[in-house]
Amino acid sequence: MPTAPAADQVRLLAVQEFDLRLQQARHRRDSLPVLATIAALEGEGGELGDHIVALSTDAGDIRREVTKAEDDVQNVRARAERDRAKLDSGNGSAKDLQALQSEVVALAKRQGDLEDVELDAMERLEAADEILATARARALEIEAALAVAVTERDADFATIDAEIAGLAAERAAAAAGIDAGLAALYERLRASHGGVGAAVLKGNQCQGCHMNVNPGDLARMQAASADDVLRCEECDRILVRAV
Ligand SMILES: [Zn+2]
Repeated sequence: MPTAPAADQVRLLAVQEFDLRLQQARHRRDSLPVLATIAALEGEGGELGDHIVALSTDAGDIRREVTKAEDDVQNVRARAERDRAKLDSGNGSAKDLQALQSEVVALAKRQGDLEDVELDAMERLEAADEILATARARALEIEAALAVAVTERDADFATIDAEIAGLAAERAAAAAGIDAGLAALYERLRASHGGVGAAVLKGNQCQGCHMNVNPGDLARMQAASADDVLRCEECDRILVRAV
């Protein structure tokens, strides 16, 4: 049976207490509700960013349609004006003037059709711009909410990190000088036993697993030297006798 000074075994319980508090503080740091908020906002912001790129492309395409429709209307209008000026001048044969007259009528019809195309494109552009503006407004909201959440997270981190630093310093002081073999055994057991490597024997109960030690083992433990390092038969942890 390995041995370590009884006083070191007792000090191990204080180290264990600090280790548990450190573990809890780290868990609290990793599971801050604000971290889930940040992840959700970042997810939504990313998706929205992609959506905005697609919407911008659509709006740009429609804007080009509007420009083309405007140009088409303008060209037809200019052509009709030229025709009307020729008609007003009265120059040319009766046949030419008749042809011009027909073209002016055809151009008026064509202009009407093109203006319908232009109007349709303008309406679609207005709708696309509105959707884009809504998406951009939401993106700004997300950005603002994210900034608030990040500030909250950083403040929480700072508080918990200070707490962790304080506990780590206290833990180091509590662990200083403890028998190296005992400390190594404790670390090994702590790593494989859910963060608890040493527990006190209270009455006949191991406070690590809360199982009762059978009378035979208890008698053997009570008879053991104070420096003997005892282990719980149930959970295998270092069992420190009452302090
Ligand atoms: Zn136990």
